Amino acid sequence: MRDLTRDEATQSADDKLMPVVYGQQDLVIDRAEDTRIWDVNGNEYLDAVAGIAVVNTGHSHPTVVEALQNQAEKFVQSSYYFYHEPMSNLLETLAEESPGDLKNTFFGNSGAEAVEGAIKLAKKATGSSELISLRGSFHGRTPGAMALTGQSKYTHTFHPHTPGAYQIPSPNYYRYGDRFKNESEFGKWAAEQIHEVIKYDSNDDIAAVFVEPIQGEGGIIVPPENYLPYVKEICEQEDILFVADEVQTGMGRTGELFAVDHWGVEPDIMTLAKGIGSGMPFGLFMGTETVSETMDPGDHYTTYGGHPMACAAANATFEVIKSENLAENAASVGSSALSRLEEMKEDYDLIGDVRGKGLHIGVELVRDRSTKEAADKEAAEVRAETYNEGLLVSQCGTHKNVIRLTPPLTVSPADMNDMLDRLEIAIKRVSKEHAIPAR
Ligand code: PMP
Repeated sequence: MRDLTRDEATQSADDKLMPVVYGQQDLVIDRAEDTRIWDVNGNEYLDAVAGIAVVNTGHSHPTVVEALQNQAEKFVQSSYYFYHEPMSNLLETLAEESPGDLKNTFFGNSGAEAVEGAIKLAKKATGSSELISLRGSFHGRTPGAMALTGQSKYTHTFHPHTPGAYQIPSPNYYRYGDRFKNESEFGKWAAEQIHEVIKYDSNDDIAAVFVEPIQGEGGIIVPPENYLPYVKEICEQEDILFVADEVQTGMGRTGELFAVDHWGVEPDIMTLAKGIGSGMPFGLFMGTETVSETMDPGDHYTTYGGHPMACAAANATFEVIKSENLAENAASVGSSALSRLEEMKEDYDLIGDVRGKGLHIGVELVRDRSTKEAADKEAAEVRAETYNEGLLVSQCGTHKNVIRLTPPLTVSPADMNDMLDRLEIAIKRVSKEHAIPAR
């Protein structure tokens, strides 16, 4: 393998990658450590992307690196054909740390794959075939996960989808809450739409409701306080399963180990990926014993299941999250960041809303505060300007107008402030460029 120049590296990727990637920045990564990335020209960046909410323990955390090195020297692949310690240890930790009565785990390789498996489990456990998910949701790019994903921009070219998936409204109070007395009335209404789907859309055959506790790609949508408990209550009444997709929100990201822990809601099935492997490709789904015992040998499988390297990384990830109190750090640094962003909102009309929990933060940009017209182009410009300032952020939201901040959970208060300083410079510049009022 020969060393490429920076331009050769970007050119060959632009030419030879399947042309499905978009919004790629021209940064060629040389190395990364904790909250920082260096490009091949030696430029340093603060990283509020973290591999899209993946490296919660920071880039190349020494404990994770050591675990991977040790495991690589022992053996790299096993498949489920054989038992091994890293997998058994991880199974114990997951059963202990996961919310409620989740007990059995299936290991795969990505978030979408975890969701596909969860769909199969929900169908097998209930003998039903229909599914409910939320508008504005994101569950992955494989056919089943796409059928659940409530954003046509990701799925429209690939119709028809797996049949029997119905979407209820997103619990997005900022966008859809205006006609309600308060947030809790809105939360109740949004959850009650499950009854409406059962009554008007379904074949009376609903297996499960799939929910991201906080929608991620949809724009960091924190639901009203009563929403998730009410969804769970309705699931129990209607005898359908509650599936929490914690792919983006899990592993300390929101200030609790799992986002459902904020509301004390216990899922029947949970998916997990991203943060679990500190960057190793890994995804899993868990079920309660009652749900899981309906599966029979051969109902599901993958060659790389329970991958020793991924399990070793995940065991180290749990260790680091616990020993360095990373969920607590996410809660405290995240809450100061949100306060500062609320203050920033007072100064820049471009900021329509600020939302989040822990270090799962969204800043929604609008052209006009009263119409809430989505400032998608402006968001792209803010992202470009932060890059010029040495800060990496991502863009999300159903209208791509939300700046997402998901730094490693190891981020210090000083580095977080530094990130917000750079973001403010970018927001100021873009506000001026478009003559959007700023004080
Ligand atoms: N579920 C959620 C909530 C996600 O945020 C994502 C990825 N953004 C996925 C599923 C799919 O994960 P992956 O990209 O690893 O397939």
